[in-house]
Amino acid sequence: MSGSLDDMYRDIILDHYKAPRGKKPIEEANIASDGHNPACGDELELKVSVDGSTVRDVHINCKGCAISVASSSMLAEQIKGKPLEEVKGLAEQVRKMLKGENVQLPEDTDDLDALKGVRNFPVRIKCALLAWVTLLEGIKTFEKGTGESKTINLEETD
Ligand code: ZN
Repeated sequence: MSGSLDDMYRDIILDHYKAPRGKKPIEEANIASDGHNPACGDELELKVSVDGSTVRDVHINCKGCAISVASSSMLAEQIKGKPLEEVKGLAEQVRKMLKGENVQLPEDTDDLDALKGVRNFPVRIKCALLAWVTLLEGIKTFEKGTGESKTINLEETD
């Protein structure tokens, strides 16, 4: 990772990278979605259990660079216990933020600000995006009730 990222942001990202949240496997998952970012080699498996319309638990297995692991760890931390609608909104906001739009993230999402620094490094944006678009795809499939989510390949999305 580049040394020109703001130090505070770098610390937050490294903290998540060293101890990613959401590592613990979960028993039942209503949402299962995989994502790849071939440009960097990041691979991610996401599982979410939904209780009614609330995210009960989340498991993420991300093998990739510091940014992709940190971003997925932040996702795990943020979505647990939240209503699915809110989670969807947050994922959309983060996606917009990473694409350079000015968004107002909800309160108590401080760590996510660290991802903003990634926007200065275009090749890293997809690393940060991976977990969030994989989540959105999983939720979409869950809501349609069509079973298996398609694997996200960031080479094919913009
Ligand atoms: Zn990466």
